[in-house]
Amino acid sequence: MTQAFDISLDALRARSFADPDAAATGAPATPRHSGGTFFLETFGCQMNEHDSEKVAGLLLSRGYRQVESPDAASLILYNTCSIREKAAQKLFSRLGEYRGREGEGRTIGVLGCVAQQEGEQIFQRAPWVSLVCGSASYRKLPELLSQLEAGNQRVTGLDTDTDETFETEVTRRDNPWRAYLTIIEGCDKACAYCVVPFTRGPERSRASGSVLEEVRQLAELGYSEVQLLGQTVNSYADPSSRQMRFSELLMAVAEVPGIRRVRFTTSHPRDFTPDIVLAIESQPKICNHVHLPVQSGATRVLKAMQRTYSREGYLEKIAMIRGARRPISITTDIIVGFPGETEDDFQQTLSLAEAVRYEGMFSFKYSPRPNTPARSMNDPIPEEEKSRRLAVLQERQRQIQTDGNSSLVGMAFEVMVSGKSRRENQWSGHTSCHRVLNFTSQERALLGTYVQVSVTSVGPNSLVGEHSS
Ligand code: SAM
Ligand code: SF4
Repeated sequence: MTQAFDISLDALRARSFADPDAAATGAPATPRHSGGTFFLETFGCQMNEHDSEKVAGLLLSRGYRQVESPDAASLILYNTCSIREKAAQKLFSRLGEYRGREGEGRTIGVLGCVAQQEGEQIFQRAPWVSLVCGSASYRKLPELLSQLEAGNQRVTGLDTDTDETFETEVTRRDNPWRAYLTIIEGCDKACAYCVVPFTRGPERSRASGSVLEEVRQLAELGYSEVQLLGQTVNSYADPSSRQMRFSELLMAVAEVPGIRRVRFTTSHPRDFTPDIVLAIESQPKICNHVHLPVQSGATRVLKAMQRTYSREGYLEKIAMIRGARRPISITTDIIVGFPGETEDDFQQTLSLAEAVRYEGMFSFKYSPRPNTPARSMNDPIPEEEKSRRLAVLQERQRQIQTDGNSSLVGMAFEVMVSGKSRRENQWSGHTSCHRVLNFTSQERALLGTYVQVSVTSVGPNSLVGEHSS
């Protein structure tokens, strides 16, 4: 297994093919695309964002240069999402822009979930595409790129039958302070509405030693926050002989010198065990935020969704988290309008949201997806009714967040500063509990630092404050 490490954009650019060491990195001595440029657009979740960081690193290490516009690129890649119909449509609207422009000498590739879902059909719909590669085949990308560089017009990576994870020698990270790190790929759950098990393949975890080695390298490079990623991150199963539990891995990552914050997402309720809460309680570097998607408040719907827990079982997990000695904020995902969801079921979702009082929520209208059992279920809910339920839920949640945030006025939080506004003395960042805090400070160089901020006012989605020390 290769060791992953991070490298800055400048260092990668400097490592051109004139560099004799380039051969040692696996880069070809005289690539056809030497001096080539690439444009990479990403749709979808954080895992896609992070996959793109790895793909960009790989391309930079092969001598490509990243450009900001597709028109300036010789290689255009779209890393796609197919979780909902709308996300998948975006790809085809992008590809449509190249219809009739085959003679312009560009290579176009489709990566990610739509690539896996549509496979070679993409070549039929958009014959000007040359590469179609799903995320479970990213390990083969160097080989696929070599085939493209050799002039091959149709190159595919569509296997999902793998026990390997995508680890690269070079990752081009977009954020200089927070690093994403995938510890488990794929998904073995079988939620009736979801394409992920089909598009991302079976669950496979990365060895704890390799994760920790990468975290140490990240800390040496100056990253102070790491976010461990997985579709079901807490289903992590260390394949090495150490057999670290997920909570032990969290503790070990937090103990790496230089690391100040550890986040993780997304957690599956079934595998959310008390030792994870104990780890958050006992190690302040583990952020006090859990994203625990519930999807519905009605046991009947949860069963039809094959979510593997009931309303009551989920609420027990919530009680365990709310009972922690350190307050932990909880966010969730909810789908409204799943086939057969009655008004009573929907009311149960509203009452669950009231009971939990989530600090944040992503809510969606159910979208039928190919290759999922829910697609053939009867009793679809009309689109207008789905929209109505979504609006009602979002309004209720907005009120819950406004009320919850109001109780924070006067309190002080540590903020990792990640943004500077164009307005004088205005900064922004996240608290450990993952709230956005916009604040004023007379200091000049705060980006990437940790500061104490007192909350002076709030809105439903963010807090406002003043730098206090
Ligand atoms: N693995 C995570 C989990 O177990 O909840 C979620 C991964 S998925 C990328 C993110 C969210 O998209 C899900 O939690 C769900 O709310 C939503 N989602 C997935 N499939 C959907 C569909 N067919 N229609 C609407 N929303 C969907
Ligand atoms: Fe999709 Fe369910 Fe797996 Fe989450 S746990 S990725 S919702 S199948």
